[in-house]
Parts: sequence; C-alpha cells; structure tokens
Amino acid sequence: MPTAAEKPAESHVFEADVARLLHMMVHSVYSDKDVFLRELISNAADACEKLRYESIETPSLSGSDPESRITLSLDEERRELSVEDNGIGMSREELIEALGTIARSGTRAFMERLESGKAGEGAQLIGQFGVGFYSCFMVAERVDVVSRRAGSDEAWLWSSDGKGNYSVSPADIAEAPPRGTRILLHLTEEAKKYTSRWTIEQIVKEQSGHVPVAISIVDKPG
Ligand code: ADP
Ligand code: MG
Repeated sequence: MPTAAEKPAESHVFEADVARLLHMMVHSVYSDKDVFLRELISNAADACEKLRYESIETPSLSGSDPESRITLSLDEERRELSVEDNGIGMSREELIEALGTIARSGTRAFMERLESGKAGEGAQLIGQFGVGFYSCFMVAERVDVVSRRAGSDEAWLWSSDGKGNYSVSPADIAEAPPRGTRILLHLTEEAKKYTSRWTIEQIVKEQSGHVPVAISIVDKPG
C-alpha cells in the first residue's frame, strides 16, 4: 500500500462560476479584505455547530473532546495564517462539493448582481453579500485545507492558488487535525499584516464577537 504522501494529487477544475468569482475577488480593488477572516471563522463555527447536532444521535463523533474550539495560528516568518476548528470536518467528496462548486443561493444571487451591475459595483457587493470561503483568495496566494471528518480515520488535503484548478490528495493523518478542518493561508506580500497578533485580535473583536465558539490565537514558534 502506498503511503498518503506517495499517492499522486488529483487535479480538478473549478466550476465556471467559481472560477469567475475567484477572478473577480483576486482582481477586486475592494479595500476591506478583512472580511475573509469573518467568513473563515463563521464556517469554523458552523462546523462546530454541525458536529454538536450530529453528536446528539451519534455521541461517539465528539468522543472524549466535546468542547468546540477555533484556533488561529500566526507565523510571521513564513507569512502564514491558519484557521483550525474541531468541528464536523469534510470527507473527500464534501471537500470537492463544498470548495469546488457554488451550491449556495447567496453566491448565485451575488453572481447575478455582479453580471447585471455596473463596473465597479462588484467591490461593494463583496461587502454586502457574505461571499464565503472563496474570499480568502483576496489575501492568499495559496490555500491548503486539511480536513478530517469526525469519526473518520482518513484526512484529505485540498489545495489551490485560486487560478482555475485545485488538487485533492490524501493527507498525512499525523499532520491533520484529530477532527475538523485546518485552513492554511499562504498570504500574499500585501497581506502580511494578517500575521500580526494585534491586527488579528482587532478584526476578531470587531467582526466575530458574537461567535458562540471560543477563539484562541497562537503564535507559531519561528
Ligand atoms: P456557506 O458558509 O454560506 O455555506 P462558504 O463559501 O463559506 O459558504 O462555505 C462553503 C461550504 O464549505 C460550507 O457550506 C461547508 O459545507 C464547507 N466548509 C467551509 N469551511 C468549512 C469548515 N471549516 N468545516 C467544514 N465545512 C466547511
Ligand atoms: Mg460561510
């Protein structure tokens, strides 16, 4: 049996609407890029909520660790920020469905407004609509998502530079969260401020104060 690292990564192409949305996000002059963090934290909190819900029927899913957590890790030297939760996690199929297509009505509506709108309106629209996961490509040149569905003994790595393709490959279980999802952003040069603890604390306070899951911020040793 080949180990996880030996299996080749499968390459996938984003759904056309996703590719358009990504292009727009990356080339947007929208100044309030901070919203990406609100989106990632909100997804992390949703994942914790889903786990709590599924655990009612299947208590073993939470096992000995029922406490929901969101951890933001800062690595200034490597210009990386990660958002990790110990929520429900995603299987391989869920990763492909959730992060390669646009299934959500909100995003469809956003795309339609974008198509019909005047030039320049797109920037404003990002603020109005929650544009979700894909907004992290406003600040990252590559995004790696490692996820392990609660109760599963496999983990998967989704990786993309947001330019049309993404890859999916088995992740090393030893490097994966015990359960849940870690979203690692390789920040662009312009976005390096998101490794500053002060900056992240301010944004979390401002945008995510209402989130019902404990959020901690840790500095990765350099
Ligand atoms: P929305 O949150 O409105 O559904 P997003 O673009 O923010 O849209 O996320 C798309 C989907 O990706 C979510 O619905 C969810 O299925 C999946 N997802 C994103 N982040 C996570 C996460 N941290 N844990 C589990 N699933 C996630
Ligand atoms: Mg979301």
